[in-house]
Amino acid sequence: MTRNELVERQQAFHRAARGRMTPFLFVFIPMLAPLTVDSFRGVDVDRWGFWPEVAAFAALVAALATATIFVPRLEERRVRKFGLACPACGEALLGTTGEIAAVTGRCGNCGHRVVEPD
Ligand SMILES: [Zn+2]
Repeated sequence: MTRNELVERQQAFHRAARGRMTPFLFVFIPMLAPLTVDSFRGVDVDRWGFWPEVAAFAALVAALATATIFVPRLEERRVRKFGLACPACGEALLGTTGEIAAVTGRCGNCGHRVVEPD
């Protein structure tokens, strides 16, 4: 790949990442609502005890555990899909590693040439 192709792939990767964040926020932020004090006004504590809080906390822990397990796997898959994995070491050519690759043409992790020489 050429240097321009690398930069275009990195930009496409970041554009796609921004689009996927929105649905995540629509799911995650409402999950925090039961943890606020205002949500419990009018709730009959004698009848329900603290189960709404316990259930909200359990749902939050489950969501965080799921995210911890699946997000890195999905991220790896996306990096490969965009052709941004170093062919030698598999490191994502993003962030500092990607900037080094864009400037020097070599993987910022292992030094393998990832961009065709000009
Ligand atoms: Zn590498």
